[in-house]
Amino acid sequence: MQPHVGLLASPGMGHLIPAMELAKRLLTHHRFTVTVFIVTTDSTTTRSHILQYTSSLPSLNILILPPLDISHKLGPDATLAARVGLTMFDSLPSLRSSILSINPRPSALIVDLFGTLAFPMARDLGMLTYVFITCNAWFTAVTVYLPVIDKQMEDRHVYHHEPLRLPGCKPVRFEDTLEPFLFRDGPMYEGYLKAAKDIISADGILVNTWQDLEPAAVKALMDRDVLGGIPERAVYFVGPLVRGREAKPEEKREEVLRWLDEQEVESVIYVSFGSGGTLSAAQIAEVAWGLELSEQRFVWVVRPPVEEDVSGSFFQVKGRKELERLDYLPEGFVERTEKVGRVVPLWAPQAEILGHASVGGFVTHCGWNSTLESLGNGVGMVAWPLYAEQRMNARVMVEELGVAVRVEGLESESEGGVVGREEVGKVVRRIMVEEEGKRIRKRAKELKVSGEKAVSEFGSSHHSLCLMTKDFLNYVEAQSL
Ligand code: UDP
Repeated sequence: MQPHVGLLASPGMGHLIPAMELAKRLLTHHRFTVTVFIVTTDSTTTRSHILQYTSSLPSLNILILPPLDISHKLGPDATLAARVGLTMFDSLPSLRSSILSINPRPSALIVDLFGTLAFPMARDLGMLTYVFITCNAWFTAVTVYLPVIDKQMEDRHVYHHEPLRLPGCKPVRFEDTLEPFLFRDGPMYEGYLKAAKDIISADGILVNTWQDLEPAAVKALMDRDVLGGIPERAVYFVGPLVRGREAKPEEKREEVLRWLDEQEVESVIYVSFGSGGTLSAAQIAEVAWGLELSEQRFVWVVRPPVEEDVSGSFFQVKGRKELERLDYLPEGFVERTEKVGRVVPLWAPQAEILGHASVGGFVTHCGWNSTLESLGNGVGMVAWPLYAEQRMNARVMVEELGVAVRVEGLESESEGGVVGREEVGKVVRRIMVEEEGKRIRKRAKELKVSGEKAVSEFGSSHHSLCLMTKDFLNYVEAQSL
């Protein structure tokens, strides 16, 4: 029997890209039929991004749910999590009718962290439920442990800033903590707690990481005795699922890639804060001056400044023209740096840039996809975390794996200050010029090999996905008896 699963992707490229990668894996390596349901706020951008998948995988079914405008339902200060959560909630009726319209229907629904509210509906339709966590195992452990966490211990973390201790894993320092803990008495925390409970109620949990990258956290999640008897369900470590480089014909290669072709090996630093990260006007200016001070070649993906919201470019309401302007950069910056750098407004072909031999370092917000893409290409990082679980990711990369240096002064940034140009220049030189950078790149290349091994035919992640397939088929068979 050919198994059929539905995969629900919540809004944002950071959710869509790994969902498509998982779909591709299930389809090409495990002979699943896969239907991807995409929730989006902007079907035009989404459509152009999924084209690259559909052209190489014609058998992948993709259904874009009708885009929703929730702007009138939430105040301007609503958090990103609240916006994504409400969009997902409002999409449930169209998801249900889409599932019902497919014949034969998928036997399971795989959702990301924001999609667990579709579980009651999926169960009502007789489907199995899976969560695909597009973050690391340490974050997964914190999340699944949350519902049983000792309240006093959590209070000490939230109110007295003591480390959050987790059985079998390293503690989470308060300065790296997750946003819901910062808003413990509000709806963000409630939403996170509910999602955590939903996750441990799922039939299976898939995590985009691999055993050798995070052995302690993986062990804690696999061992029922370690995390206080949770999770009850199977956990599968299936990563790194990252975008491969697309083999585009020469005439379709973006200008930035052609410019990279002319640069020396590992001579360019790539600067990008993910699909949603934004900086204040003052911070953008310091990054610009810092890049000049570093005297290094660069590719920098820029977005107009947003004050007081580091995830300001998700749910953008401005028009494309407005977003592509560059007049907020220091006067003459683009002209002065024309020979040594490229400024790319809004969006760049990141997987290809990181895979280019000329790129030697990556200033990143440490979103998990960006982190995996950097490791997947053996590129060392400058960690500049902004929001969500990125501080935890940065901690793992800098302290545990030794594949990144951390920008100093981010704490003062959260209090309204900015990271100065000297620090930007210094940290770029540390990764691009100094011996430390060479050591970091060597280590990143070792992890690239480790990740490739994990997803290869005899690797731990391939094995884990085979196991998930087997368990899934057993479930389906048992249900049909
Ligand atoms: N991305 C890209 N071009 C850009 C910015 C982002 O292709 O200009 C992709 C990036 O390669 C990654 C995803 O968008 O796959 C961002 O996911 P991540 O988890 O790093 O961060 P998020 O955007 O979710 O914060």
